Amino acid sequence: MSGTVYLVGAGPGAVDLLTLRAARILAQADVVLHDALVSPEVLALAGEARLYNVGKRANRPSVDQRFTCRLMVRLAARYNVIVRLKGGDPNLFGRATEEIAACRAAGVPVVSVPGVTAAFAAASALGASLTARGVARSVTFVTPSKAQGGVENTHWAEAAATAETAVIYMGALQADAVASALIARGVPAQRPVALVENASSANERIVRGALSELAALALQLGDGPAIMVIGEAMAEVRASIAEADAA
Ligand code: SAH
Repeated sequence: MSGTVYLVGAGPGAVDLLTLRAARILAQADVVLHDALVSPEVLALAGEARLYNVGKRANRPSVDQRFTCRLMVRLAARYNVIVRLKGGDPNLFGRATEEIAACRAAGVPVVSVPGVTAAFAAASALGASLTARGVARSVTFVTPSKAQGGVENTHWAEAAATAETAVIYMGALQADAVASALIARGVPAQRPVALVENASSANERIVRGALSELAALALQLGDGPAIMVIGEAMAEVRASIAEADAA
C-alpha cells in the first residue's frame, strides 16, 4: 500500500487565496514538503503534519531536486497523505514534471491541486487586466531562469519579445539582461512595465515605468519574490480610464 502524493498550489501568499480543496487536503496531511515561498499562515493549515522545507530561492543554498523526489517517494511508503506544497500553481515553473515522473516510476499515485499563480495575484495588485480589448489578445508566461544543469537558450527572449503581454517569472534579478534582450529584438523601449513584489501579501510593493527603465525599477524592490509584466495593457492611462469609468 502506498500513500498518495498531492502537488498542491499554495497560491501567491495571502492565506485566503488558497483553494478550499487545498485547505482540505492540507488539513488531512500526514507530512508536508513545502517551498521556501509558502507563508507560515498557509503552513498552519497543516495542523500537526510533519513539515519539510525543500525550498529553492535564487542565489541561496537550495535543496537538490533529486533529493526532493526521493524524499517524496520514501515518505509515500510510510504515510497516507503526502503534500508537496508549492507557491502559486504547482504546474507553472514548479518542477512538477520531475516530481510526477518520480512518483509514477515508483508506482506512487500523484494528484495535482491548482493554485492562484503569481501572474494573477500581480494583475489584481496592479488593478490591471493582462488582456485588453484591441491591445492584448494573448498572455505569455516566461522565465529567463534555467534550471540547474539546464540548457542555455534564447527561446524565452523570443517568446517575451513577441508577446502582447509578457509575464516574467524569476527574472527581477536579471532585469537588465531581460530589458536588453527585448530591446535588441525590437520591442519599443517605452513599452509600459509593472513590477510587483510579494503580490497579495502585507508587504506587497508595486513599481511602474517603461521597458528602458526595467533594471532601475527592479532595484527599487526588496528581496521578496517579484514578477514583471510587460505590455501595452499595463499603460497607466488605461488604468486611469478604467477608474474614471468606474466612478
Ligand atoms: N509556481 C509559482 C511560480 C514559481 S517560480 C506560481 O505559480 O506563482 C517563483 C517566481 O514566482 C518568483 O521568482 C516570482 O517571479 C514569482 N512569484 C511567486 N510568488 C510571488 C508573489 N507573491 N509576488 C510576486 N511574484 C511572485
